[in-house]
Amino acid sequence: MIEGQTESSPACYCEEREKHPVGFLEIPEGYCGICDVCGKSGHMRAHPRYATTGAWCDEHWADVVSGRSFGLHKLLWYILVALSICAAVVYWVIKLVS
Ligand SMILES: [Zn+2]
Ligand SMILES: [Zn+2]
Repeated sequence: MIEGQTESSPACYCEEREKHPVGFLEIPEGYCGICDVCGKSGHMRAHPRYATTGAWCDEHWADVVSGRSFGLHKLLWYILVALSICAAVVYWVIKLVS
């Protein structure tokens, strides 16, 4: 039994780790991934809704499952950052031509 795993969680890469331990040397024992969000040790799994695989600690995995932190929130943030970069470029171009 792997700590932090619940019945609803899809299989993580711990099984893979047993077969090919070489690729997991930097990851602490009992885990198979490093959380993409906070960098804590966690488990690498397929995303429950997206066609992607990521690593999440228990805390952020709960967020992913409930849809709290991954998805729209992050997407909106990226759009905001992209817009501000565009605005900066446009401002710079206008300054350059005038
Ligand atoms: Zn695991
Ligand atoms: Zn985390």
